[in-house]
Parts: sequence; structure tokens; C-alpha cells
Amino acid sequence: MLLDVKNVKKVYKTRGTQTTALQQIDFGVNEGEFVAIMGESGSGKSTLLNIIATFDQPSQGTVHLNGTNTAKIKKNKIAQFRREQLGFVFQDFNVLDTFSNKDNILLPMVLSNADIKEMERRLQEIAPILGIQNLLEKYPYEISGGQRQRVAIARAIITNPPLLLADEPTGALDSKSSEQILGLFKELNRLNKTILMVTHSIQAASYASRVLFIKDGVVYHELYRGEESNQA
Ligand code: ADP
Ligand code: ADP
Repeated sequence: MLLDVKNVKKVYKTRGTQTTALQQIDFGVNEGEFVAIMGESGSGKSTLLNIIATFDQPSQGTVHLNGTNTAKIKKNKIAQFRREQLGFVFQDFNVLDTFSNKDNILLPMVLSNADIKEMERRLQEIAPILGIQNLLEKYPYEISGGQRQRVAIARAIITNPPLLLADEPTGALDSKSSEQILGLFKELNRLNKTILMVTHSIQAASYASRVLFIKDGVVYHELYRGEESNQA
């Protein structure tokens, strides 16, 4: 199992008030799966994703990613662990207008002393899949939201991490761009990328092969997608 979330509970304590964001979460993601976590605002989706992304720690329970208990990673190794194991796609793209799209994709690698030649080679490989060949020399402010999200996806998978995490990746897009981005996720998944996506959109979730529904910090329902329909 690539991702194993066991008995995860999260209580936020701020100025005397306690909020239980996650009561008890148990689920796993196998290599090659495309899993969506669906729930309304406030159901605990971001909290769960932040914990899986190692940005936050659970109050109880464990998260294993690729065999590593993420609570046991040393502070000075956490950035490297994230780089090697995880790709992130956000709702608001998180691309920097001051850099070209290509530099946005490669810059995190430059900063981490990665083999840039290898990254350039990999970019040539993924650019056609993402349809961004003609966008690389442009700047984020020159392209549409959907195109910016493609650039962000390129940045997330340039190191070929085992798990791609997406937090409401179509939340800032119109329905046509949303469908294109979701179609891309589906294509990446077909090419064997494991994806975990958080969303409140049933349209987005319908692209996943499995959907977990969370409410009040627990998984209360799980759906497996039927075989190919012509919708997605
Ligand atoms: P979702 O992403 O599904 O909207 P969240 O994980 O953001 O849900 O929030 C779950 C619950 O935890 C909400 O009640 C929210 O207000 C609370 N919460 C989230 N983050 C924090 C925080 N840093 N401090 C205190 N409460 C938080
Ligand atoms: P979304 O549901 O769109 O992901 P939210 O508005 O729930 O976004 O949360 C945005 C950020 O603020 C998250 O990182 C979350 O952890 C944090 N957050 C949410 N609720 C609270 C809260 N009550 N107190 C402090 N931080 C919070």
C-alpha cells in the first residue's frame, strides 16, 4: 500500500477552544489508484490533506507513505522527503508571475540541487502530455487559469513522485477548464500516477476510480467507480 492512514484524529486547540477537525480516519491508497475525498466545507478535507502532505501532524494515529511513518521523519529531512515522495497541486495554482512557466516548473528543482539536465529532459517528456509545449517561454500572467494549472501540474510531477496530492484543483476554474484538468489527471493516472484529490465537487470526484465521502471528520461512505463511461 502506497499510503496508509490509520486511526487519524486531529483536534485544533486555539485560545481555550477545541475543534475536532478529524475524529477518526482510516483508509489506504494503493499504487496506481485515483482516489477522491469528497466533503462539504468544514468536513476536514484540508486538515486531512495537510497531514498526509506532512505540513501538519495528527493528534493521534499514523500516516505511512511508501513505508515511512511520516511522524518519524527528522525535521531536517522533511523537505527532502516531500520533494521525493509528493507532488502538490493547489486550488489557486501557486505559480509565480515573476518567472516564466518553465522556470516555475524547474525552479524548485534548481533550489534543491537536482540534476537540471535530467529535469529538462523530463519536462520535454511531460510537456506534450500536459499540452504546455507552447507555454514554457511565456509567463503565468499571459496564460489562462486552466493553462496555469497545467503548469502547476508539471511542477508537481517533474520529479516523478509516487503520490500526487491535489487540493480542490478545479475550484478556481470554469467548467470547461475543469473538465480538461480532470481529464489530464485521468490520463496521468492511466500512465500509472497515483493521485489523491480533495474536492467538494461531484463532477471532479466522478473522474476518480474511488471516492471517499467525509463528514464531521469520519469517512462515512465509499464508492467505486464503474467501468469506463463516456463521461470522463
Ligand atoms: P474543509 O477543508 O473540508 O473545509 P477543514 O479541514 O479546513 O475542512 O476544517 C475542518 C474543521 O477544522 C473546521 O471546523 C475548521 O474550522 C477547523 N480548522 C481547520 N483548520 C484549523 C486551524 N488551523 N485551527 C483551528 N481550527 C481549524
Ligand atoms: P478550504 O476549505 O477551501 O480548503 P479553508 O477556508 O477551510 O479552505 O481553510 C484555509 C486554510 O485555513 C487551511 O489551511 C486551514 O487549515 C486553515 N483554517 C481553516 N479553518 C481555520 C480556523 N478556524 N482557524 C485557523 N485556521 C483555519
